[in-house]
Amino acid sequence: MALIVQKYGGTSMGSAERIRNVARRVARWKAQGHQLVVVVSAMSGETNRLIALAKDVSPQPDARELDVMVSTGEQVTIALLAMALKDIGIDARSYTGGQVKVLTDSTHTKARILHIDDANMRRDLDRGTVVIVAGFQGVDENGNITTLGRGGSDTSGVALAAALGADECQIYTDVDGVYTTDPRIVPEARKLERVTFEEMLEMASLGSKVLQIRSVEFAGKYKVKLRVLSSLEEEGQETSGTLITFEEDKNMEQPIISGIAFNRDEAKLTVLGVPDRPGIAYQILGPIAENNIDVDMIIQNVGHDGTTDFSFTVNRGDFARTKKLLEEQIQPHVGARAIEGDSKICKVSAVGVGMRSHPGVASKMFRTLAEEGINIQMISTSEIKISVVVDEKYLELAVRVLHRAFGLDQA
Ligand code: ADP
Ligand code: ASP
Ligand code: MG
Repeated sequence: MALIVQKYGGTSMGSAERIRNVARRVARWKAQGHQLVVVVSAMSGETNRLIALAKDVSPQPDARELDVMVSTGEQVTIALLAMALKDIGIDARSYTGGQVKVLTDSTHTKARILHIDDANMRRDLDRGTVVIVAGFQGVDENGNITTLGRGGSDTSGVALAAALGADECQIYTDVDGVYTTDPRIVPEARKLERVTFEEMLEMASLGSKVLQIRSVEFAGKYKVKLRVLSSLEEEGQETSGTLITFEEDKNMEQPIISGIAFNRDEAKLTVLGVPDRPGIAYQILGPIAENNIDVDMIIQNVGHDGTTDFSFTVNRGDFARTKKLLEEQIQPHVGARAIEGDSKICKVSAVGVGMRSHPGVASKMFRTLAEEGINIQMISTSEIKISVVVDEKYLELAVRVLHRAFGLDQA
């Protein structure tokens, strides 16, 4: 008997029929003698619908109230799944994040999990009850409802698995595993049987939304056995998905590149003609950080005539706010000539632990993009990834040609 945490995403919970299908899958695992905790997302589209409704009422909705509202999506699906399980004779009980309780900090809309109380869940599991928990939500120390950021049900699933010491955390989604790139963009993408934790962390942080980055961080910290699988496969046809491994397979020749990740959700800002003197980066980025705006890539060009240009990228959702901050507060302060912004950029990255031992990956990437006439605006590298910023209109082309150039296309 094993203790298994299963997480079902929005598409998997997207209709009455799909919810009944999830119930049947849970019942099959239960019939094998396992204890089950099931974490669910809202029905697909529901979280977007709720956020749009909030923005219709208030252009910048209050974050606390937004959390009260968007958390309802998951409150609906936990109850529906419990009903569907009971209908097929399986004892099940649903819990909101607050009822569990999943304690978080108070950063509304992107709260962090601090502690999970396992008492209610353990009591139910000991009785043979299937525990169903609302993903994406928690509660702060004052009882306020919080949410964990978009895609946060993955993190709920892995955090619950860590708290319970589960034998495995299974993330059920609408693809049958982690691919070499998003299979919706490149149909030739290949499913990976295994991917190292390090690579998954990079892929998630660079935009592969198949797993929320924080869920991968949790899995790493607490060594949770994590697997990505399809919830849409028929009984008897199930495959074993992708296992996130903590060790590189020493017996296998590592491919140099394991995957291509991309992120459309980026915007670039440039501060032109700032005086080239110590402290400038701090004077520009300090106020940005104080306003809770995450900065990703940064480039400071070589100075000439005593001035330099300073560029950085932020989430596209923070673009307008960052530009305003630069124009109204930072530009006058640092004496810059002008502020330029481009919200139509994207980031494309090649990821692979094999890169460590193989030089020449960067030049191959740059040559491949050059052959397609794709201009690289910014570059950043780490030991196991190379990222470039390019015009958004080239996103799909860049991903496809890099996927092919690094030998990732299916034979
Ligand atoms: P869920 O609602 O189940 O959480 P998501 O939409 O958040 O599902 O994540 C699954 C989607 O992630 C897939 O449908 C796929 O389009 C996308 N995706 C992006 N990169 C990858 C990748 N490398 N491998 C698999 N899927 C990917
Ligand atoms: N329903 C939430 C979202 O759409 C959480 C999740 O699906 O993981 O972001
Ligand atoms: Mg998701």
